[in-house]
Amino acid sequence: MKFNTRLLHGNFQPDKSTGSTGTPIYQSTAFRHDTAEELEKIFKGMAYGHIYTRISNPTVEAFERRIAGLEKGVGAVACSSGMSAISLAVLNLLETGDEIVSASGIFGGTYSLFGNLSSYGIKAFFAADSSLDSFSQLISEKTKLIFIETIGNPKLDVPNVQSLAELAHSNGIPLVVDNTVTTPYLIRPIEHGADIVVHSTSKLINGGGNSIGGVIVDSGKFQWAAEKFPVLAEMRKKFSFLSYVAKLRQGLHRDLGACMAPFNAYLTSLGLETLGLRMDRMCGNAIQLAQFLDAHNKVEGVNYPGLKNHDCHQIASLQFGGKFGVILTFSVGTKGQAFKVINGLKYAYNAANIGDIRTLVIHPASTIYSAFSEEERSLMGVTPDMIRVSVGIEDIEDLTEDFNKALNLI
Ligand SMILES: *Cc1c(COP(=O)(O)O)cnc(C)c1O
Repeated sequence: MKFNTRLLHGNFQPDKSTGSTGTPIYQSTAFRHDTAEELEKIFKGMAYGHIYTRISNPTVEAFERRIAGLEKGVGAVACSSGMSAISLAVLNLLETGDEIVSASGIFGGTYSLFGNLSSYGIKAFFAADSSLDSFSQLISEKTKLIFIETIGNPKLDVPNVQSLAELAHSNGIPLVVDNTVTTPYLIRPIEHGADIVVHSTSKLINGGGNSIGGVIVDSGKFQWAAEKFPVLAEMRKKFSFLSYVAKLRQGLHRDLGACMAPFNAYLTSLGLETLGLRMDRMCGNAIQLAQFLDAHNKVEGVNYPGLKNHDCHQIASLQFGGKFGVILTFSVGTKGQAFKVINGLKYAYNAANIGDIRTLVIHPASTIYSAFSEEERSLMGVTPDMIRVSVGIEDIEDLTEDFNKALNLI
């Protein structure tokens, strides 16, 4: 089965009792069981069933099964947001005293989270660039994971997933990959050796910008060694390749209560079905808009991995099968000019989201990254005159006309 077919039929069957072709919404907090014996068995993990929606829910589970299949994982855990998914994915691996080695050009919320973890005795170190060397020189005895995004947002650098997976494994630690901006349509990081994949499903997976959500997928392949991961190594005896997911479900996911709501799981499943169509359209629009902006005399620089002169063009071509994502940035000289352009756009909304079917723009330095120092912003690739664009499904002629009119205001 190929990708677009799998979006509809992979790990999915119409509802058994009604034949409903879409996922039914089980908008229920708790689930009744016939006997006390049955509920005891479910609680003890000796029988399958749902108990309480914070722990599991049929609508949410249907979504988890589909995404696990698409990402080629053994299990998935849906979360209330991308940030809760990232928090839980890393905390499931970490203890006080441990360290994270992370890419630097990452989502602002994740960068901030890793800083906040220092209150709990967990330190994060950020690689200066996406080269193997920058990561390997930060790894110590205490490092428990390497964290990257498939395309750094907003830096738009593209790390080599396979070589970073090899680096992680040679140090006995897993590679955690945020696949939000590429989705399994462009890359399945697990096929390149990644161990854990996380998503903000609020973006491209959902597509319509109607629900916050996140998901964690486990490859089931990492061999948890007792010296570095004592709890997971112990759990492996009982849960085998499902130990990471089991630890999450019986631990922080259940206890912090960051579950995905059934209605959000329904909307996100609905969006997921058209992921391939949307990605084709949006990636096609993005390369055309990037080329248009690159040739525009009011634009000083365009950053898009699809452009041939981009530093990461080659690795992006290799990893993403000839598509380059939906996000690009461009600079126009000053903050004032950037504001003028944003205010002059008609179709492209000024909004803090990405991956929506609508084209969205934002001035990162004064918004998402305003709380960071100048030095941190420059490490994350955010300059004062930069505009970020998340390209939508509009007709490209309307988009280029919209940007042309706005640019000609400066
Ligand atoms: C948006 C985003 C997140 C955070 O997800 P939320 O659903 O907003 O919590 C994490 N990583 C990346 C790459 C994102 O774009």
